[in-house]
Order: sequence, then structure tokens, then C-alpha cells
Amino acid sequence: MTERTGSSQDPTHLKRRCPRLGHDIFFGYCLECGEDHSACWKVFDCWWEIFDVAHYLKDRLPEAEYRSLAQKKPKQKVTSILEIVEAAKKRTIKGSG
Ligand code: SF4
Repeated sequence: MTERTGSSQDPTHLKRRCPRLGHDIFFGYCLECGEDHSACWKVFDCWWEIFDVAHYLKDRLPEAEYRSLAQKKPKQKVTSILEIVEAAKKRTIKGSG
């Protein structure tokens, strides 16, 4: 179950159950729990349904770091997730007008 706490503009306060830890964590934790305080390698998988995590990370990480994070997953899976996100965004745009 996902829970919003605090500002809806700041996703670091979004909360979900971590499949690795087995309890609720904030998105902010996911941003720094990886190697050398980088983002967790599962960050795309865990958050894409909740908000546009790919866009969020692309805006904030240096390009090389973003690419490295994206490549920690099998490319086909990341590609399909990003395609699903793009399709969802297009459906939202069509539905809003
Ligand atoms: S991104 Fe990593 S730390 Fe965050 S919920 Fe997923 S598995 Fe847990």
C-alpha cells in the first residue's frame, strides 16, 4: 500500500512497502540506499506505478549516473517499463482533454 505524507510535490515523502526489506520505506530512502549512497537498483521497478520516477531521476541525476542506474536492470525490462510509463502518460493526456 502506498501512502502519501507531506507535500505531494516532493516524492521523497511518498511511502511504499519495500519488497527487499519487507516494510514501509520512503522514496527518499530509495534514492540513497544503493552503492556509495546512490539510488537502489530497483528504483524504477518499485516506483513507476506511483509517479514518473524515470523523469524525476533523469532531471536530477547526471546523465552518466542515470544511465548507469538504468542499466543495472536487464535492458528489455527497463525499456518495457519506460514504454509503459510513456503509454500511461499518453492515455492521461488524451483522457484529460
Ligand atoms: S527501490 Fe529498493 S529500497 Fe526502494 S522500495 Fe524498491 S527495493 Fe526497496
